[in-house]
Amino acid sequence: MQSKLLTAVLLACLAVFGQSKSAWADIMNVNVDGVDPRYRSAFLQAEAFWESRVIAYNPILPASVRAQLTKLQITAVSTAIDGVGGILGSAGPTSVIQFGSTAPGFKQTRGTPIAIARTSQMNFDIADIEDLAANGSLLDVIKHEMAHAMGFGSLWQQNGLLSTINGQLQYTGVNALAKYRTESGNRAARWVPVEQAGGGGTAGSHWDDDDPFFNRRTRSGSSELMIGSIDPGNETKFTSETTWAAMADLWYVVRGINDVGYREPRVSPGGRRKWTGGPPQFLTSTGGGPAGVPEPGSIGLLLALGACGTLVRSRRKS
Ligand SMILES: [Zn+2]
Repeated sequence: MQSKLLTAVLLACLAVFGQSKSAWADIMNVNVDGVDPRYRSAFLQAEAFWESRVIAYNPILPASVRAQLTKLQITAVSTAIDGVGGILGSAGPTSVIQFGSTAPGFKQTRGTPIAIARTSQMNFDIADIEDLAANGSLLDVIKHEMAHAMGFGSLWQQNGLLSTINGQLQYTGVNALAKYRTESGNRAARWVPVEQAGGGGTAGSHWDDDDPFFNRRTRSGSSELMIGSIDPGNETKFTSETTWAAMADLWYVVRGINDVGYREPRVSPGGRRKWTGGPPQFLTSTGGGPAGVPEPGSIGLLLALGACGTLVRSRRKS
């Protein structure tokens, strides 16, 4: 009797877990109507990539705030940007839910304001997308831009994750810094190195491509997904735990980073999260906000080979 009950409970848990795993880990919708049908599947793959570990908003946010959160709505379009090469894409939030540490019921440790992307747009240069698909780099580029759409780099400032000390940008988010210390072997690191070069759109919204942990091009022909450049078709991209942890710094729950003790809320048969819906009362910025499109925090994010080479060479002189 008892073992039968246990089996039943286990099966029920599996059923619930199975359902919640697919239904719950669905923090965003990506609208690909503006993308050539040939490339749409890559966008859905990129979405599945991020949702494999980014599963929810952090329950540390008070209920009154969580009630305003909906799925992140991302619109992807292919459009003319700057011809072949150069900028391959750009992305960032078009509206942001913002609130401060004074929100009722909110207890946080950082004492900083909060900004969560509500809607975002990703632009891909129509002159480059076919080449990227042909040389196998398209998925990496989409993953990269989608991270900006989720707030990576584009909402760092607004979440108090960046400091400027002696003119140098430093990323100090606790989750990413902890992972960087472990992964890079630099256990004494007090910040994660942030790109300083490349101007608005690249500087301040990527990991530093001069950092040997993030840039392994000369050693293994690979580089981290969230540095500001790519050598399309000629390198492999890897995603560091530091990048996943940076998503945790942006108020997401990330599997393997900050999900210890996290219980996925029940999902209704329709698969909707408990706190989905409701008018966005905390919406303070719609379009033209801290990260409009194309937003200065992440335009020009991915430089093609020529520009990338120039960047690396010119920086090595100094
Ligand atoms: Zn970028």
